[in-house]
Amino acid sequence: MADYIYTLETRLSPDQQKAVSAVIDAAKAAGMNVYLTGGAVRDIITGFTIRDLDFTVQGNALKLQKDLERGGALVSDADDETRSLLLTFPGGVRAEIGMARSERYEKTGKPPVIAPATIIEDLRRRDFTVNAMALSLNEGSRGLLMDPFNGAADIEAKLIRVLHNYAFLEDPSRMIRATRFTTRFHWPLEERTQARYESGKENGYIDHIRSSRIGDEIEQLAYEDDALGVLKAYEKEGWLKVLNPRWSTAKVDAAGLSALTKTRQQMNELGYAPDVAPAVLYFLTGRLGEKDVADLRRAIPRKDLVTAWKDLEDDARDLAKRLMGKEAATPSRTWQLLSSARPEMVLFLAVTARQQAVTQKIKNFFTKWRQVQQKIPLPEMTELRITPQMAEYPKIANDVFMLLLDGKLRSRTETLKFLKPLAPPPPPPPPAPTKRGRGAKAAAAALPAAAPVAGKGKKGKGKEAPVEAAAAAKPAVKAIEASAGKGVVAKAAAAPAAKDVAKSGKPVQADKAQENKAAKPVAKKVVKPAAKVTAKPKAVAKGKAGKPAGKKGKR
Ligand code: ATP
Repeated sequence: MADYIYTLETRLSPDQQKAVSAVIDAAKAAGMNVYLTGGAVRDIITGFTIRDLDFTVQGNALKLQKDLERGGALVSDADDETRSLLLTFPGGVRAEIGMARSERYEKTGKPPVIAPATIIEDLRRRDFTVNAMALSLNEGSRGLLMDPFNGAADIEAKLIRVLHNYAFLEDPSRMIRATRFTTRFHWPLEERTQARYESGKENGYIDHIRSSRIGDEIEQLAYEDDALGVLKAYEKEGWLKVLNPRWSTAKVDAAGLSALTKTRQQMNELGYAPDVAPAVLYFLTGRLGEKDVADLRRAIPRKDLVTAWKDLEDDARDLAKRLMGKEAATPSRTWQLLSSARPEMVLFLAVTARQQAVTQKIKNFFTKWRQVQQKIPLPEMTELRITPQMAEYPKIANDVFMLLLDGKLRSRTETLKFLKPLAPPPPPPPPAPTKRGRGAKAAAAALPAAAPVAGKGKKGKGKEAPVEAAAAAKPAVKAIEASAGKGVVAKAAAAPAAKDVAKSGKPVQADKAQENKAAKPVAKKVVKPAAKVTAKPKAVAKGKAGKPAGKKGKR
Protein backbone atom coordinates (compact mmCIF):
# COMPACT_ATOMS: atom_id res chain seq x y z
CA MET A 1 0.00 0.00 0.00
CA ALA A 2 1.46 3.32 -1.03
CA ASP A 3 1.94 5.58 1.94
CA TYR A 4 -0.26 8.39 0.77
CA ILE A 5 -0.71 9.73 4.27
CA TYR A 6 2.93 10.73 4.28
CA THR A 7 2.39 12.49 0.94
CA LEU A 8 -0.76 14.06 2.33
CA GLU A 9 1.05 15.40 5.35
CA THR A 10 3.88 16.83 3.34
CA ARG A 11 1.77 18.27 0.53
CA LEU A 12 -0.93 19.99 2.56
CA SER A 13 -0.40 23.46 3.94
CA PRO A 14 -0.49 23.69 7.76
CA ASP A 15 -3.97 25.24 7.56
CA GLN A 16 -5.16 22.45 5.27
CA GLN A 17 -3.71 19.87 7.67
CA LYS A 18 -5.65 21.43 10.51
CA ALA A 19 -8.81 21.30 8.42
CA VAL A 20 -8.21 17.60 7.68
CA SER A 21 -7.70 16.91 11.39
CA ALA A 22 -10.87 18.81 12.28
CA VAL A 23 -12.88 16.75 9.79
CA ILE A 24 -11.34 13.48 10.98
CA ASP A 25 -12.23 14.36 14.58
CA ALA A 26 -15.77 15.44 13.73
CA ALA A 27 -16.40 12.29 11.68
CA LYS A 28 -14.93 10.11 14.40
CA ALA A 29 -17.10 11.74 17.05
CA ALA A 30 -20.15 11.10 14.86
CA GLY A 31 -19.07 7.52 14.19
CA MET A 32 -18.75 8.05 10.43
CA ASN A 33 -16.09 6.80 8.06
CA VAL A 34 -14.38 9.64 6.24
CA TYR A 35 -12.39 9.84 3.02
CA LEU A 36 -10.54 12.50 1.14
CA THR A 37 -11.94 12.43 -2.39
CA GLY A 38 -11.99 14.22 -5.74
CA GLY A 39 -9.48 16.78 -6.89
CA ALA A 40 -7.50 16.82 -3.64
CA VAL A 41 -6.48 13.17 -4.10
CA ARG A 42 -5.66 13.82 -7.76
CA ASP A 43 -3.52 16.81 -6.80
CA ILE A 44 -1.72 14.89 -4.06
CA ILE A 45 -0.69 12.28 -6.60
CA THR A 46 0.16 14.67 -9.42
CA GLY A 47 2.00 17.15 -7.26
CA PHE A 48 -0.18 20.07 -8.40
CA THR A 49 -1.29 22.63 -5.84
CA ILE A 50 -4.03 21.30 -3.59
CA ARG A 51 -6.64 23.99 -4.07
CA ASP A 52 -9.55 22.71 -2.03
CA LEU A 53 -10.45 19.67 0.03
CA ASP A 54 -13.33 17.34 -0.78
CA PHE A 55 -14.36 14.92 1.91
CA THR A 56 -16.88 12.14 1.70
CA VAL A 57 -18.40 10.61 4.79
CA GLN A 58 -20.47 7.48 5.10
CA GLY A 59 -23.41 9.15 6.78
CA ASN A 60 -25.20 12.44 6.84
CA ALA A 61 -22.52 15.15 6.55
CA LEU A 62 -24.99 17.82 7.68
CA LYS A 63 -24.75 16.35 11.16
CA LEU A 64 -21.12 17.43 11.38
CA GLN A 65 -21.97 21.09 10.92
CA LYS A 66 -22.10 22.14 14.58
CA ASP A 67 -18.95 20.30 15.52
CA LEU A 68 -17.04 21.82 12.61
CA GLU A 69 -18.34 25.31 13.33
CA ARG A 70 -17.18 24.98 16.91
CA GLY A 71 -13.73 24.27 15.48
CA GLY A 72 -13.80 27.56 13.57
CA ALA A 73 -15.16 26.47 10.18
CA LEU A 74 -17.63 28.73 8.40
CA VAL A 75 -20.46 27.08 6.55
CA SER A 76 -21.31 28.96 3.38
CA ASP A 77 -23.86 26.54 2.00
CA ALA A 78 -25.65 23.38 3.07
CA ASP A 79 -27.37 21.15 0.54
CA ASP A 80 -30.13 19.01 1.97
CA GLU A 81 -30.40 16.86 -1.11
CA THR A 82 -26.79 15.72 -1.32
CA ARG A 83 -26.36 16.24 2.43
CA SER A 84 -23.23 18.23 1.90
CA LEU A 85 -21.64 21.30 3.40
CA LEU A 86 -19.56 23.98 1.72
CA LEU A 87 -17.03 25.20 4.25
CA THR A 88 -14.23 27.63 4.76
CA PHE A 89 -11.75 26.63 7.46
CA PRO A 90 -9.41 29.06 9.20
CA GLY A 91 -6.69 30.26 6.87
CA GLY A 92 -9.17 30.38 3.98
CA VAL A 93 -9.12 26.62 3.38
CA ARG A 94 -12.03 25.75 1.11
CA ALA A 95 -13.65 22.39 1.67
CA GLU A 96 -16.73 20.39 0.87
CA ILE A 97 -18.02 17.48 2.90
CA GLY A 98 -20.66 15.30 1.37
CA MET A 99 -22.50 12.12 2.10
CA ALA A 100 -21.27 9.09 0.16
CA ARG A 101 -24.05 8.66 -2.37
CA SER A 102 -25.10 6.93 -5.53
CA GLU A 103 -26.68 8.91 -8.36
CA ARG A 104 -29.04 7.26 -10.82
CA TYR A 105 -29.98 9.25 -13.92
CA GLU A 106 -33.42 8.26 -15.12
CA LYS A 107 -34.15 11.03 -17.64
CA THR A 108 -31.90 13.33 -19.66
CA GLY A 109 -31.83 16.78 -18.17
CA LYS A 110 -33.41 15.69 -14.93
CA PRO A 111 -31.51 15.58 -11.67
CA PRO A 112 -30.34 12.14 -10.58
CA VAL A 113 -32.01 10.05 -7.94
CA ILE A 114 -29.75 10.21 -4.92
CA ALA A 115 -29.33 7.54 -2.27
CA PRO A 116 -26.82 6.97 0.56
CA ALA A 117 -24.10 4.58 -0.57
CA THR A 118 -20.71 3.13 0.13
CA ILE A 119 -17.56 5.02 -0.75
CA ILE A 120 -16.91 2.77 -3.76
CA GLU A 121 -20.41 3.43 -5.12
CA ASP A 122 -19.83 7.11 -4.52
CA LEU A 123 -16.71 6.99 -6.68
CA ARG A 124 -18.83 5.55 -9.52
CA ARG A 125 -20.88 8.76 -9.78
CA ARG A 126 -17.81 10.91 -10.42
CA ASP A 127 -16.84 12.69 -13.62
CA PHE A 128 -13.36 11.47 -14.64
CA THR A 129 -11.12 8.62 -13.57
CA VAL A 130 -8.53 11.04 -12.18
CA ASN A 131 -11.23 12.50 -9.93
CA ALA A 132 -12.68 9.16 -8.86
CA MET A 133 -10.22 8.16 -6.16
CA ALA A 134 -10.57 8.20 -2.40
CA LEU A 135 -7.98 8.22 0.34
CA SER A 136 -9.07 6.66 3.61
CA LEU A 137 -8.67 8.89 6.65
CA ASN A 138 -9.97 6.23 9.01
CA GLU A 139 -8.02 4.60 11.79
CA GLY A 140 -6.70 1.27 10.69
CA SER A 141 -6.78 2.04 6.96
CA ARG A 142 -5.48 5.59 6.90
CA GLY A 143 -3.53 6.16 3.73
CA LEU A 144 -5.27 3.43 1.74
CA LEU A 145 -5.96 4.61 -1.81
CA MET A 146 -9.22 3.45 -3.36
CA ASP A 147 -8.93 3.68 -7.09
CA PRO A 148 -11.54 1.45 -8.75
CA PHE A 149 -11.17 3.13 -12.15
CA ASN A 150 -7.40 3.21 -12.19
CA GLY A 151 -7.20 6.96 -12.08
CA ALA A 152 -3.58 6.73 -10.97
CA ALA A 153 -2.71 5.16 -14.35
CA ASP A 154 -4.49 7.99 -16.17
CA ILE A 155 -2.59 10.52 -14.08
CA GLU A 156 0.58 8.73 -15.13
CA ALA A 157 -0.56 8.80 -18.77
CA LYS A 158 -1.81 12.40 -18.38
CA LEU A 159 -5.25 11.66 -19.73
CA ILE A 160 -8.75 12.84 -18.90
CA ARG A 161 -11.11 9.89 -19.22
CA VAL A 162 -14.80 9.58 -18.39
CA LEU A 163 -16.00 6.63 -16.32
CA HIS A 164 -18.56 5.40 -18.85
CA ASN A 165 -20.17 6.13 -22.21
CA TYR A 166 -23.08 8.15 -20.82
CA ALA A 167 -21.06 10.49 -18.68
CA PHE A 168 -21.66 13.60 -20.80
CA LEU A 169 -25.27 12.74 -21.54
CA GLU A 170 -26.09 12.25 -17.88
CA ASP A 171 -24.45 15.45 -16.80
CA PRO A 172 -23.45 17.82 -19.60
CA SER A 173 -21.57 20.08 -17.18
CA ARG A 174 -18.87 17.41 -17.43
CA MET A 175 -18.12 18.72 -20.93
CA ILE A 176 -17.36 22.13 -19.44
CA ARG A 177 -15.30 20.45 -16.73
CA ALA A 178 -13.44 18.47 -19.37
CA THR A 179 -12.46 21.72 -21.10
CA ARG A 180 -11.40 23.21 -17.78
CA PHE A 181 -9.16 20.29 -16.83
CA THR A 182 -7.62 19.89 -20.29
CA THR A 183 -6.79 23.60 -20.28
CA ARG A 184 -5.44 23.62 -16.74
CA PHE A 185 -3.33 20.49 -16.89
CA HIS A 186 -2.63 20.50 -20.64
CA TRP A 187 -3.73 16.86 -20.61
CA PRO A 188 -5.78 15.73 -23.62
CA LEU A 189 -9.04 13.81 -23.51
CA GLU A 190 -8.54 10.10 -23.91
CA GLU A 191 -9.56 8.96 -27.40
CA ARG A 192 -12.98 7.54 -26.61
CA THR A 193 -13.72 10.35 -24.22
CA GLN A 194 -12.87 12.79 -27.01
CA ALA A 195 -15.30 11.00 -29.34
CA ARG A 196 -18.07 11.17 -26.69
CA TYR A 197 -17.30 14.80 -26.10
CA GLU A 198 -17.59 15.65 -29.82
CA SER A 199 -20.81 13.73 -30.08
CA GLY A 200 -22.16 15.51 -26.98
CA LYS A 201 -21.32 18.85 -28.54
CA GLU A 202 -22.94 17.99 -31.85
CA ASN A 203 -26.07 16.67 -30.23
CA GLY A 204 -26.56 19.68 -27.99
CA TYR A 205 -26.33 17.82 -24.69
CA ILE A 206 -25.41 21.10 -23.09
CA ASP A 207 -29.01 22.33 -23.48
CA HIS A 208 -29.88 19.95 -20.66
CA ILE A 209 -27.37 21.28 -18.18
CA ARG A 210 -28.79 21.85 -14.71
CA SER A 211 -28.68 25.41 -13.43
CA SER A 212 -26.97 24.35 -10.20
CA ARG A 213 -24.10 22.96 -12.28
CA ILE A 214 -23.77 26.30 -14.10
CA GLY A 215 -23.26 28.00 -10.76
CA ASP A 216 -20.65 25.42 -9.76
CA GLU A 217 -18.66 26.03 -12.92
CA ILE A 218 -18.80 29.84 -12.66
CA GLU A 219 -17.46 29.49 -9.13
CA GLN A 220 -14.68 27.11 -10.17
CA LEU A 221 -13.51 29.56 -12.81
CA ALA A 222 -12.65 32.04 -10.06
CA TYR A 223 -10.09 29.66 -8.58
CA GLU A 224 -8.25 28.86 -11.81
CA ASP A 225 -4.68 30.14 -11.93
CA ASP A 226 -5.12 30.98 -15.60
CA ALA A 227 -8.76 32.00 -15.48
CA LEU A 228 -8.53 33.96 -18.72
CA GLY A 229 -7.02 30.96 -20.50
CA VAL A 230 -9.91 28.79 -19.32
CA LEU A 231 -12.43 31.48 -20.28
CA LYS A 232 -10.96 31.61 -23.79
CA ALA A 233 -11.19 27.83 -24.05
CA TYR A 234 -14.83 28.01 -22.90
CA GLU A 235 -15.55 30.61 -25.54
CA LYS A 236 -13.96 28.48 -28.23
CA GLU A 237 -15.92 25.41 -27.20
CA GLY A 238 -19.17 27.35 -26.88
CA TRP A 239 -19.46 26.93 -23.11
CA LEU A 240 -19.06 30.55 -22.09
CA LYS A 241 -22.45 31.52 -23.42
CA VAL A 242 -23.88 28.66 -21.38
CA LEU A 243 -22.57 30.29 -18.23
CA ASN A 244 -23.97 33.62 -19.38
CA PRO A 245 -25.26 34.44 -22.88
CA ARG A 246 -23.57 37.84 -22.98
CA TRP A 247 -20.22 36.82 -21.53
CA SER A 248 -17.26 36.88 -23.90
CA THR A 249 -13.53 37.52 -23.71
CA ALA A 250 -14.28 41.08 -24.89
CA LYS A 251 -16.08 41.63 -21.58
CA VAL A 252 -12.95 40.83 -19.59
CA ASP A 253 -10.74 43.55 -18.13
CA ALA A 254 -7.59 41.79 -19.31
CA ALA A 255 -5.21 44.54 -18.18
CA GLY A 256 -6.69 44.44 -14.68
CA LEU A 257 -6.45 40.66 -14.58
CA SER A 258 -2.85 40.71 -15.68
CA ALA A 259 -1.95 43.38 -13.08
CA LEU A 260 -3.73 41.26 -10.47
CA THR A 261 -1.65 38.23 -11.39
CA LYS A 262 1.61 40.19 -11.20
CA THR A 263 0.84 41.85 -7.87
CA ARG A 264 -0.36 38.59 -6.40
CA GLN A 265 2.94 37.01 -7.37
CA GLN A 266 4.80 39.85 -5.71
CA MET A 267 2.72 39.43 -2.55
CA ASN A 268 3.27 35.68 -2.53
CA GLU A 269 6.99 36.30 -2.61
CA LEU A 270 6.60 38.53 0.45
CA GLY A 271 4.77 35.76 2.29
CA TYR A 272 1.17 36.89 1.80
CA ALA A 273 -1.41 34.53 0.35
CA PRO A 274 -4.38 36.66 -0.63
CA ASP A 275 -7.48 34.91 -1.89
CA VAL A 276 -7.75 36.28 -5.40
CA ALA A 277 -11.01 34.58 -6.44
CA PRO A 278 -13.31 37.60 -5.84
CA ALA A 279 -10.96 39.91 -7.74
CA VAL A 280 -10.62 37.37 -10.56
CA LEU A 281 -14.40 37.41 -11.00
CA TYR A 282 -14.38 41.19 -10.81
CA PHE A 283 -11.97 41.48 -13.74
CA LEU A 284 -13.39 38.55 -15.72
CA THR A 285 -16.74 40.37 -15.76
CA GLY A 286 -15.23 43.88 -15.88
CA ARG A 287 -17.21 44.98 -18.94
CA LEU A 288 -20.30 42.88 -18.42
CA GLY A 289 -23.58 44.64 -17.65
CA GLU A 290 -24.86 44.92 -14.08
CA LYS A 291 -27.76 42.58 -14.61
CA ASP A 292 -25.53 39.86 -16.01
CA VAL A 293 -23.14 40.25 -13.13
CA ALA A 294 -26.06 39.95 -10.72
CA ASP A 295 -27.19 36.75 -12.52
CA LEU A 296 -23.72 35.25 -12.23
CA ARG A 297 -23.58 36.11 -8.54
CA ARG A 298 -26.93 34.53 -7.89
CA ALA A 299 -25.80 31.28 -9.49
CA ILE A 300 -22.65 30.85 -7.39
CA PRO A 301 -23.20 28.47 -4.45
CA ARG A 302 -20.37 29.75 -2.25
CA LYS A 303 -21.96 32.84 -0.74
CA ASP A 304 -18.84 34.14 1.01
CA LEU A 305 -17.20 34.39 -2.43
CA VAL A 306 -20.14 36.41 -3.74
CA THR A 307 -20.12 38.75 -0.75
CA ALA A 308 -16.39 39.34 -1.07
CA TRP A 309 -16.80 40.05 -4.79
CA LYS A 310 -19.67 42.48 -4.17
CA ASP A 311 -17.77 44.30 -1.41
CA LEU A 312 -14.48 44.68 -3.27
CA GLU A 313 -14.98 48.21 -4.57
CA ASP A 314 -16.43 49.63 -1.35
CA ASP A 315 -13.78 48.01 0.82
CA ALA A 316 -11.03 49.29 -1.46
CA ARG A 317 -12.52 52.79 -1.39
CA ASP A 318 -12.51 52.69 2.43
CA LEU A 319 -8.91 51.57 2.58
CA ALA A 320 -7.87 54.25 0.06
CA LYS A 321 -9.60 56.87 2.17
CA ARG A 322 -7.79 55.75 5.29
CA LEU A 323 -4.50 55.75 3.43
CA MET A 324 -5.10 59.36 2.45
CA GLY A 325 -6.05 60.41 5.97
CA LYS A 326 -4.37 61.05 9.31
CA GLU A 327 -4.31 57.37 10.11
CA ALA A 328 -1.55 57.03 7.53
CA ALA A 329 0.23 60.31 8.20
CA THR A 330 3.63 58.71 8.77
CA PRO A 331 5.37 55.70 7.21
CA SER A 332 5.03 53.72 10.45
CA ARG A 333 1.32 54.37 10.67
CA THR A 334 0.86 53.55 7.01
CA TRP A 335 2.81 50.35 7.57
CA GLN A 336 0.56 49.42 10.47
CA LEU A 337 -2.57 50.25 8.53
CA LEU A 338 -1.54 48.17 5.51
CA SER A 339 -0.29 45.33 7.70
CA SER A 340 -3.59 45.07 9.48
CA ALA A 341 -5.67 45.37 6.30
CA ARG A 342 -6.79 42.16 4.62
CA PRO A 343 -4.18 41.14 2.03
CA GLU A 344 -7.03 40.77 -0.49
CA MET A 345 -7.82 44.45 -0.09
CA VAL A 346 -4.22 45.56 -0.35
CA LEU A 347 -3.92 43.51 -3.52
CA PHE A 348 -7.10 44.83 -5.07
CA LEU A 349 -6.28 48.42 -4.18
CA ALA A 350 -2.74 48.05 -5.49
CA VAL A 351 -4.24 47.09 -8.84
CA THR A 352 -7.14 49.55 -8.98
CA ALA A 353 -6.12 52.66 -7.03
CA ARG A 354 -6.22 55.89 -8.99
CA GLN A 355 -4.68 58.24 -6.41
CA GLN A 356 -0.94 58.57 -6.81
CA ALA A 357 -0.46 58.91 -3.03
CA VAL A 358 -2.22 55.60 -2.42
CA THR A 359 -0.30 53.66 -5.05
CA GLN A 360 2.97 55.14 -3.80
CA LYS A 361 2.25 54.07 -0.22
CA ILE A 362 1.40 50.54 -1.28
CA LYS A 363 4.52 50.45 -3.40
CA ASN A 364 6.63 51.55 -0.43
CA PHE A 365 4.93 48.91 1.71
CA PHE A 366 5.91 46.21 -0.77
CA THR A 367 9.47 47.40 -1.40
CA LYS A 368 11.27 50.36 0.17
CA TRP A 369 10.03 50.02 3.72
CA ARG A 370 10.92 46.37 3.87
CA GLN A 371 14.54 47.30 3.25
CA VAL A 372 14.45 49.40 6.42
CA GLN A 373 14.17 46.13 8.32
CA GLN A 374 17.78 45.46 7.34
CA LYS A 375 18.76 48.41 9.51
CA ILE A 376 17.63 46.72 12.71
CA PRO A 377 21.02 46.03 14.37
CA LEU A 378 20.49 42.35 15.11
CA PRO A 379 24.08 41.40 16.07
CA GLU A 380 24.27 44.29 18.51
CA MET A 381 20.88 43.39 19.89
CA THR A 382 22.14 39.88 20.50
CA GLU A 383 25.16 41.28 22.28
CA LEU A 384 22.80 43.29 24.44
CA ARG A 385 20.92 40.04 25.12
CA ILE A 386 17.86 41.44 23.33
CA THR A 387 16.97 38.16 21.70
CA PRO A 388 13.72 36.44 20.66
CA GLN A 389 13.84 34.56 23.97
CA MET A 390 12.76 37.77 25.68
CA ALA A 391 9.05 38.20 26.13
CA GLU A 392 9.41 41.86 25.16
CA TYR A 393 11.44 41.11 22.03
CA PRO A 394 8.65 41.40 19.45
CA LYS A 395 7.64 44.77 20.82
CA ILE A 396 11.20 46.07 21.00
CA ALA A 397 11.97 44.88 17.47
CA ASN A 398 8.76 46.42 16.20
CA ASP A 399 9.37 49.70 18.00
CA VAL A 400 12.83 49.98 16.52
CA PHE A 401 11.45 49.23 13.07
CA MET A 402 8.72 51.85 13.42
CA LEU A 403 11.21 54.49 14.60
CA LEU A 404 13.56 53.64 11.77
CA LEU A 405 10.68 53.87 9.29
CA ASP A 406 9.82 57.35 10.50
CA GLY A 407 13.44 58.45 10.43
CA LYS A 408 13.50 58.95 14.19
CA LEU A 409 16.50 56.74 14.61
CA ARG A 410 18.85 58.03 12.01
CA SER A 411 22.05 56.22 12.73
CA ARG A 412 23.30 53.03 14.30
CA THR A 413 24.50 55.05 17.27
CA GLU A 414 21.04 56.48 17.84
CA THR A 415 19.51 53.06 17.48
CA LEU A 416 21.89 51.55 20.03
CA LYS A 417 21.29 54.43 22.39
CA PHE A 418 17.62 53.61 22.18
CA LEU A 419 18.21 49.90 22.67
CA LYS A 420 20.75 49.87 25.50
CA PRO A 421 18.37 50.70 28.36
CA LEU A 422 16.08 47.94 27.11
CA ALA A 423 18.71 45.25 27.52
CA PRO A 424 17.96 42.74 30.24
CA PRO A 425 20.41 42.50 33.15
CA PRO A 426 23.28 40.05 32.64
CA PRO A 427 22.61 36.53 33.87
CA PRO A 428 23.85 35.82 37.41
CA PRO A 429 27.25 34.11 37.53
CA PRO A 430 26.98 30.36 37.89
CA PRO A 431 27.71 28.92 41.32
CA ALA A 432 31.35 28.23 42.02
CA PRO A 433 32.30 24.58 41.52
CA THR A 434 32.28 22.52 44.68
CA LYS A 435 35.36 20.51 45.58
CA ARG A 436 35.23 16.83 46.09
CA GLY A 437 37.04 14.85 48.71
CA ARG A 438 38.81 16.04 51.73
CA GLY A 439 39.01 19.74 50.95
CA ALA A 440 35.32 19.97 50.07
CA LYS A 441 34.19 21.18 53.44
CA ALA A 442 36.80 23.88 53.54
CA ALA A 443 35.93 24.94 50.00
CA ALA A 444 32.23 25.13 50.89
CA ALA A 445 33.08 27.27 53.85
CA ALA A 446 35.14 29.55 51.60
CA LEU A 447 32.30 30.04 49.06
CA PRO A 448 30.56 33.14 50.41
CA ALA A 449 33.92 34.87 50.41
CA ALA A 450 34.85 33.60 46.97
CA ALA A 451 31.67 34.63 45.24
CA PRO A 452 32.07 38.41 45.63
CA VAL A 453 35.66 38.03 44.55
CA ALA A 454 34.58 36.30 41.43
CA GLY A 455 31.90 38.86 40.83
CA LYS A 456 33.79 42.07 41.47
CA GLY A 457 37.45 41.25 41.26
CA LYS A 458 38.08 43.10 44.50
CA LYS A 459 38.67 42.28 48.10
CA GLY A 460 39.85 38.71 47.56
CA LYS A 461 42.93 38.05 49.53
CA GLY A 462 43.37 34.30 49.37
CA LYS A 463 45.23 32.80 46.43
CA GLU A 464 42.43 30.41 45.54
CA ALA A 465 39.82 33.03 44.99
CA PRO A 466 40.91 34.36 41.56
CA VAL A 467 41.30 30.79 40.30
CA GLU A 468 37.77 30.00 41.34
CA ALA A 469 36.60 33.23 39.82
CA ALA A 470 38.17 32.29 36.52
CA ALA A 471 36.58 28.87 36.68
CA ALA A 472 33.24 30.44 37.42
CA ALA A 473 33.63 32.96 34.65
CA LYS A 474 34.17 30.34 31.95
CA PRO A 475 30.70 28.85 31.96
CA ALA A 476 29.32 32.36 32.09
CA VAL A 477 31.21 33.23 28.92
CA LYS A 478 29.94 30.02 27.40
CA ALA A 479 26.40 30.92 28.30
CA ILE A 480 26.76 34.25 26.57
CA GLU A 481 28.31 32.60 23.53
CA ALA A 482 25.48 30.16 23.45
CA SER A 483 22.92 32.89 23.63
CA ALA A 484 24.81 34.73 20.90
CA GLY A 485 24.69 31.54 18.87
CA LYS A 486 20.96 31.43 19.29
CA GLY A 487 20.99 35.02 18.29
CA VAL A 488 22.33 34.00 14.92
CA VAL A 489 19.34 31.80 14.44
CA ALA A 490 17.31 34.58 15.90
CA LYS A 491 18.81 36.85 13.31
CA ALA A 492 16.95 34.99 10.64
CA ALA A 493 13.91 34.84 12.82
CA ALA A 494 14.14 38.39 13.98
CA ALA A 495 13.35 40.16 10.76
CA PRO A 496 10.21 38.15 10.15
CA ALA A 497 9.38 38.59 13.81
CA ALA A 498 9.50 42.32 13.38
CA LYS A 499 7.58 42.00 10.18
CA ASP A 500 5.00 39.72 11.70
CA VAL A 501 4.51 41.94 14.65
CA ALA A 502 4.11 44.85 12.36
CA LYS A 503 1.61 42.83 10.41
CA SER A 504 -0.34 42.02 13.49
CA GLY A 505 -3.13 43.65 15.29
CA LYS A 506 -5.54 46.37 14.53
CA PRO A 507 -4.71 49.82 13.23
CA VAL A 508 -3.19 51.72 16.09
CA GLN A 509 -5.44 54.07 18.03
CA ALA A 510 -3.23 57.07 18.46
CA ASP A 511 -2.78 58.70 21.79
CA LYS A 512 -2.56 62.36 20.93
CA ALA A 513 0.08 63.25 23.48
CA GLN A 514 2.32 60.45 22.41
CA GLU A 515 1.64 61.21 18.80
CA ASN A 516 2.93 64.76 19.22
CA LYS A 517 5.99 63.52 21.03
CA ALA A 518 6.71 61.02 18.33
CA ALA A 519 6.47 63.71 15.73
CA LYS A 520 9.21 65.85 17.31
CA PRO A 521 12.37 66.12 15.26
CA VAL A 522 15.11 63.84 16.45
CA ALA A 523 17.91 66.24 15.72
CA LYS A 524 17.27 68.08 18.93
CA LYS A 525 16.72 65.16 21.17
CA VAL A 526 17.47 61.54 20.52
CA VAL A 527 14.48 59.44 21.39
CA LYS A 528 14.90 58.20 24.92
CA PRO A 529 13.67 54.80 25.83
CA ALA A 530 12.31 54.09 29.23
CA ALA A 531 14.87 52.86 31.70
CA LYS A 532 13.58 49.32 32.10
CA VAL A 533 12.77 46.65 29.64
CA THR A 534 9.32 46.30 31.03
CA ALA A 535 8.60 49.99 30.72
CA LYS A 536 7.14 51.39 27.54
CA PRO A 537 9.67 53.24 25.41
CA LYS A 538 8.65 56.86 25.39
CA ALA A 539 8.52 57.77 21.79
CA VAL A 540 7.87 54.51 20.08
CA ALA A 541 5.06 54.13 17.65
CA LYS A 542 1.94 53.84 19.64
CA GLY A 543 -0.48 51.06 20.05
CA LYS A 544 -0.54 47.32 20.20
CA ALA A 545 2.73 46.74 18.49
CA GLY A 546 3.67 44.00 20.90
CA LYS A 547 0.70 41.86 19.99
CA PRO A 548 1.52 38.43 18.63
CA ALA A 549 1.67 38.32 14.89
CA GLY A 550 -1.33 37.16 12.90
CA LYS A 551 -0.87 37.60 9.23
CA LYS A 552 -4.39 38.23 8.35
CA GLY A 553 -7.96 37.75 9.18
CA LYS A 554 -8.54 36.25 5.93
CA ARG A 555 -12.13 35.56 5.13
P1 ATP B 1 -10.57 21.58 -8.64
O1 ATP B 1 -9.12 21.33 -8.62
O2 ATP B 1 -11.02 22.46 -9.76
O3 ATP B 1 -11.17 21.95 -7.34
P2 ATP B 1 -12.09 19.23 -8.31
O4 ATP B 1 -11.99 17.94 -9.06
O5 ATP B 1 -11.84 19.22 -6.88
O6 ATP B 1 -11.14 20.18 -9.06
P3 ATP B 1 -14.75 20.18 -7.75
O7 ATP B 1 -15.67 20.93 -8.65
O8 ATP B 1 -14.32 20.76 -6.48
O9 ATP B 1 -13.50 19.86 -8.65
O10 ATP B 1 -15.42 18.76 -7.50
C1 ATP B 1 -14.99 17.86 -6.54
C2 ATP B 1 -15.19 16.46 -7.03
O11 ATP B 1 -16.57 16.21 -7.19
C3 ATP B 1 -14.58 16.16 -8.37
O12 ATP B 1 -13.23 15.80 -8.26
C4 ATP B 1 -15.43 15.03 -8.86
O13 ATP B 1 -15.04 13.82 -8.29
C5 ATP B 1 -16.79 15.39 -8.31
N1 ATP B 1 -17.58 16.15 -9.29
C6 ATP B 1 -17.69 17.48 -9.43
N2 ATP B 1 -18.52 17.79 -10.42
C7 ATP B 1 -18.96 16.64 -10.92
C8 ATP B 1 -19.84 16.29 -11.97
N3 ATP B 1 -20.45 17.21 -12.70
N4 ATP B 1 -20.06 14.97 -12.20
C9 ATP B 1 -19.46 14.03 -11.45
N5 ATP B 1 -18.61 14.29 -10.48
C10 ATP B 1 -18.37 15.58 -10.20
